[in-house]
Amino acid sequence: MLLAHRIRIDPTPEQRGYFARAAGTARRVWNWALAEWQRQAAAGGKPNAMALKKQFNRIKYSDPAWLDENGQPWIRTIHRDAHAQPFANLARAWTGYFEQRRAGRPAHPPVFKKKGRCRDAFYLANDKFRIEGSTAVLPKVGRMALREALRWPGRILGASVSREAAHWFICVLVDVPDQVTRLPRSGHAVTGVDLGVSAAATLSGGEKIVAPRPLKAALRRLRIRSRRLSRKLEAAKALAGIKGKIPKDTRPPVSKNRTKGSLTLARLHARIASVRRDFIHKLTTRVCRENQAVAIEDLNVSGMLANACLSRAISDVGFYEIRRQLLYKAARHGTLIVLADRWYPSSKLCSGCGARNAALVLGERVWTCAACGARHDRDVNAALNLQRLATGALAAQTALPVASPAATSGTAAGQVPVGGGEVTPVRHEPGHQDGSGQEENAAHFCARFC
Ligand SMILES: [Zn+2]
Repeated sequence: MLLAHRIRIDPTPEQRGYFARAAGTARRVWNWALAEWQRQAAAGGKPNAMALKKQFNRIKYSDPAWLDENGQPWIRTIHRDAHAQPFANLARAWTGYFEQRRAGRPAHPPVFKKKGRCRDAFYLANDKFRIEGSTAVLPKVGRMALREALRWPGRILGASVSREAAHWFICVLVDVPDQVTRLPRSGHAVTGVDLGVSAAATLSGGEKIVAPRPLKAALRRLRIRSRRLSRKLEAAKALAGIKGKIPKDTRPPVSKNRTKGSLTLARLHARIASVRRDFIHKLTTRVCRENQAVAIEDLNVSGMLANACLSRAISDVGFYEIRRQLLYKAARHGTLIVLADRWYPSSKLCSGCGARNAALVLGERVWTCAACGARHDRDVNAALNLQRLATGALAAQTALPVASPAATSGTAAGQVPVGGGEVTPVRHEPGHQDGSGQEENAAHFCARFC
């Protein structure tokens, strides 16, 4: 299993300077490659990353744009991996873009990277560096201290060095043997997890887990610090005699105060990110550790982010990251993750009798079922419906080797709605005309076992 460990580095000022230059080189090469790609594509060619890299290698020591003021090729001072990897990254970005487009999903082509606006990072191939205890030895800069030793044994596949606010990190990708990655479970419950805005996660047991919502708390300070920074930028523009938008290829003078201001702002952003990361890690670890099967909604996150009212609240919780972490941690704990179809009306079904409340709107936190009279908390009810999906998927999976007809027809406990009255099968909305509700339940899980 591939696992990455991100470790904070304590570089010397010289090493720090090299990191900044290497990241700048990676950015500049990316921009060169992208511009060249666009130029060739516009001319009717079929650009590819390998050919572009060869083309770059031919010019990088001779083209005047890549020489310093003494006519020397400065790129020699930067390790090769930093300026070779952007080509592979660019190829991947284009492939992803075309795949998304083919699938009819919203797609964005790769864009140019702007200094100060993009992530500062560069790549290191596995044979170019080594980790020794809590130090790392990197090409061109030598040994440096790490805040902790590499956590995983196994074959190192590569690393990237990146900056977050004023700190540098090395993220090491390791191919870890499966018997090492496997983790014990502390419980074998089956849980539905409803992700939401008011409570980040509602478990089918009734527990509501509230996210720290760091962005909301920090928003005021964020506004103040951004304002301070933009005032400094305005001052710099006035000094350079620029009015309105800054023209291309010009840079207003950077003052010490402006650098300080942007660093304070970056530090606040980094703090928000780490509070969020900490919460999500703890939540997903707990959910995977305590359950043998977990069902979550396969939320249409980008669609929800398009909703302006919800977007800040949603990105503050980090739904997509929750889902990503659940999937890889489930593999380590041997937990089954069931992704309910995004059209599955988990909120609108009565978890008691299965009747559907089509009139339910987003604002209603509590509702009463018209069919059986049960009173539901919106989120708990949704989590209970998801739990039923998880139970069904688990039953289908354990019964799979003997192909028991009982399991496939969905008579597993918990899957059949309890209580009297009409039994409405659990149906997905559009696009699934065939099969009973139970078969759909089984169709929408992805088994994740080590
Ligand atoms: Zn009901």
